Amino acid sequence: MTYTFAELDKWDKDYVWHPFTQMKTYRQERPLIIERGNGSYLYDIEGNRYLDGYSSLWVNVHGHNHPELNQALTDQAAHIAHSTLLGAANVPSILLAKKLVELTPAGLDKVFYSDSGSTSVEIALKMAYQYWKLKDAERYADKNKFISLREAYHGDTIGSVSVGGMDTFHTIFKPLLFERIEMPAPYTYRMTADNDPETCKVHCLTELEAILREHHEEIAGLIIEPLVQGAAGMLTAPDGFLHGVRELCTRYHVLMIADEVAVGFGRTGTLFACEQENVKPDLMCIAKGLTAGYLPLAATLTTDDVYSAFLGEPHELKTFFHGHTYTGNQLACAVALKNIELLERDGLIETLPEKIEFLTQRLAAFRDLTHVGDVRQRGMMIGIELVRDRAAKEVFPPSLGVEHRVILHARQNGAIIRPLGPVIVLMPILAMSIDELDELLTITYEAIKTVT
Ligand code: PLP
Repeated sequence: MTYTFAELDKWDKDYVWHPFTQMKTYRQERPLIIERGNGSYLYDIEGNRYLDGYSSLWVNVHGHNHPELNQALTDQAAHIAHSTLLGAANVPSILLAKKLVELTPAGLDKVFYSDSGSTSVEIALKMAYQYWKLKDAERYADKNKFISLREAYHGDTIGSVSVGGMDTFHTIFKPLLFERIEMPAPYTYRMTADNDPETCKVHCLTELEAILREHHEEIAGLIIEPLVQGAAGMLTAPDGFLHGVRELCTRYHVLMIADEVAVGFGRTGTLFACEQENVKPDLMCIAKGLTAGYLPLAATLTTDDVYSAFLGEPHELKTFFHGHTYTGNQLACAVALKNIELLERDGLIETLPEKIEFLTQRLAAFRDLTHVGDVRQRGMMIGIELVRDRAAKEVFPPSLGVEHRVILHARQNGAIIRPLGPVIVLMPILAMSIDELDELLTITYEAIKTVT
């Protein structure tokens, strides 16, 4: 069956409510209706081709329409698409859990499945909270709060919103949220006059230690995105910051939750970001790249120590009461296993240093653009912060819609990228070739230069 653009446009506007989207504005614009994908490119309903410069919201790893990932899905569907994990097991979820334990930082030995980054965070928070009650309900009665970073984004379910630090998303739900304690985010560009990461790191860790000294008896856990705060605007942490946070969590008996939803699966140049500072979190959340952009699947990994606290007789009510209908779905686990198999077989992570270096060199020219205030890069994650006035680090007023016009310009020239506030974000597919990366940067550079 075929449809015209006009029909789809109308039905989209008549029936679909888009996420994180002001529908009044959306309905006035010409939509981008994607019909298919191939490799690094997306194609809209009219046949226009675009480089996927945001990995389809930070998920795609090997490219679109990958024959082997497609085959893995077909093969699994020929066996079974789904059966429940409640009181029963299934083959792909067992094999995937074993593999994830092998690949993630040492000490993370148990895998709890869910279906989005938000739910993986929700689970980590609930586990951390219940862990202390199970250890010693009386002694740890007050360990009910979580520390998270300014501008943090960990998802949009009520628990994950509670640990978020973005007022725009959270203010309206305040009465429903639990209490969080905020620590500074290492936003070197805005925190230091001379863009010095070391000063920024010392400041943030000192503040964290002050919070922990005063409040550690009330804190169940600290949640952090290792190395890069993605949705906050690609805030790249100074070297040693993550390690410093781990040390303080250990010293003050606070569980460390690493949210690797965005940074996991190669985005920062290693399979997991924690590896780069040899950090072993107590809980780790993974999602986005886990199925290489094919199906919704997430996991929360934790230690034997946390897991063991939940063991007991049914009547003791130590059970972790959480689970969703599609938890451990076979199709999703099968495609995740194939994703990991391809990563290992093709040595994709090993190809990244050359691409990352290429990006670094090409990004240098962006710094000379009049309205670029800061360029941040960690591996394949890039944020280009636009400013109206470089000296004052003043951003453009949102009413001018500068960032939106930049991405529209890029789209007209064949690349899809997205802004986060004043930051133009690039998150190329890991399998992109150097030529494709070059094309992406050329289009982005021209868009910023022309619009600003
Ligand atoms: N955590 C981080 C760090 C994220 O970047 C995101 C989404 O962007 C989430 C959690 C939530 O993931 P999801 O959108 O799959 O619920």
